[in-house]
Amino acid sequence: MKKNQIVDLEITDLSYEAMGVAHDEGLTIFVTNALPGEIVSAKILKVKKNFAFAKIEKIKKESPDRVKIKLNQWVQTGLASLAHIKYDKQLEFKRNQVVNLLKKAHLDDVEVGETLPSPEQTGYRNKAQVPVREINGQLEIGFFRRHSHDLVPLTNFFTTDPEIDRVLVAVRDILRKYRVPVYDEINHKGEVRYLDVRRSKATGEIMVILVCLHKDFPQLLGVAAEISQIHGVSGLILNHNPKKTNVILGKKDYVVFGNDQITDKIGDLKFRISPQSFFQINSLQTPRLYDLAIKKADLKPSDVVIDAYSGIGTIGLSVAKHVKAVRGIEVVRDAIKDAKDNAKLNGIDNAKYYLGKAEEVMPRWAKQGLKTDVVFVDPPRKGLTPEFIGATVKTGPEKVVYISCNPATMVRDLQLFQEQGYEFDRIDPVDMFPQTPHVEAVTVLTKK
Ligand code: SAH
Repeated sequence: MKKNQIVDLEITDLSYEAMGVAHDEGLTIFVTNALPGEIVSAKILKVKKNFAFAKIEKIKKESPDRVKIKLNQWVQTGLASLAHIKYDKQLEFKRNQVVNLLKKAHLDDVEVGETLPSPEQTGYRNKAQVPVREINGQLEIGFFRRHSHDLVPLTNFFTTDPEIDRVLVAVRDILRKYRVPVYDEINHKGEVRYLDVRRSKATGEIMVILVCLHKDFPQLLGVAAEISQIHGVSGLILNHNPKKTNVILGKKDYVVFGNDQITDKIGDLKFRISPQSFFQINSLQTPRLYDLAIKKADLKPSDVVIDAYSGIGTIGLSVAKHVKAVRGIEVVRDAIKDAKDNAKLNGIDNAKYYLGKAEEVMPRWAKQGLKTDVVFVDPPRKGLTPEFIGATVKTGPEKVVYISCNPATMVRDLQLFQEQGYEFDRIDPVDMFPQTPHVEAVTVLTKK
């Protein structure tokens, strides 16, 4: 098999990145956007020792699971790389990810629930971070083509709240009008790098963050005056990111006008959110995720609960009224400030928040002899560390509730808990990110 060769392939499977998988001439071939059951004529793009990449030239037999989408760019960019698959099949795909990981870990007897569908399947995101680049002399917003930094211009982001799309386009037009220089990542010059827009479904407040190379530029005042006229915008923040990096946000935020927080709701609770703080992006599905986790935790009024990786306190504050005390751990300073504000805002006085790395704070608490009843963990994609797990076990909780956005690291961590006297028999996938391959999952470990 050679580059540029056209071959007929029968697709038998979907990879974890949702590429169609075929086998031919002893190679595993990954075909972008192809679906199981399809026969495609494909162009080979790259050949390695055991595998190759290809793209569809023509679909010769189409899968009944394929849906027609308006813009190919949604799939091409990886913004919504499952958008061409029917929603019930997306849910099945996500459940299979978990089943396959368990199989690999020889944990076949663990039950995997049906993936909990999201109430909204498009337009569900309450936040969009979109790159700004110059194409043919014009400022464009859009999304990067998969595995690249080539910007594909877009004005409809499909998974994002349409009100956010409206603001993104309005800000783009203002930046064009004032001829604000666009960031050039090769020469590390120019000004605007990203637009970051967040909207609260509960209050309609919209925060606009301009991510810029410098903390001021000559057009800023004029631009700000016009952004303040966009319907719904409650604050403009300039985020200063002077570094040569792929990390979107810099460390410093400057309020240009308005509020530096927006307020959203989860269930009955209100939450203030700062620019640097994490907030679950699917506002309507989040309470359903938490309800599931809290139900599994089976809390008692005498319980001491830890909310590790607490963000702005959403999980801990949702359970505070039903337990004796909550201790939260979080590494982002703004998020700790928000969590404390949010406890006050909701009249909660038995939740305390501690700044630090969970893998450092937890061993300290364990050493001091702290006893806990239930520990919630909700780590980023890289999962927990062995130090954190060891320290958690030492504090002796009856239950550990694990919420994960990466089932691969989750299964790895669950095995470490198992070796230290904890057991689990079920994992429930939850769809927080429709149209994308991301899988969220919840499980509860109990002490043997
Ligand atoms: N439970 C919250 C936040 C989950 S996201 C919610 O549902 O909204 C994960 C959080 O962990 C983020 O707020 C991130 O800032 C924080 N974090 C990342 N690494 C950490 C670490 N080593 N120790 C403590 N918190 C960490």
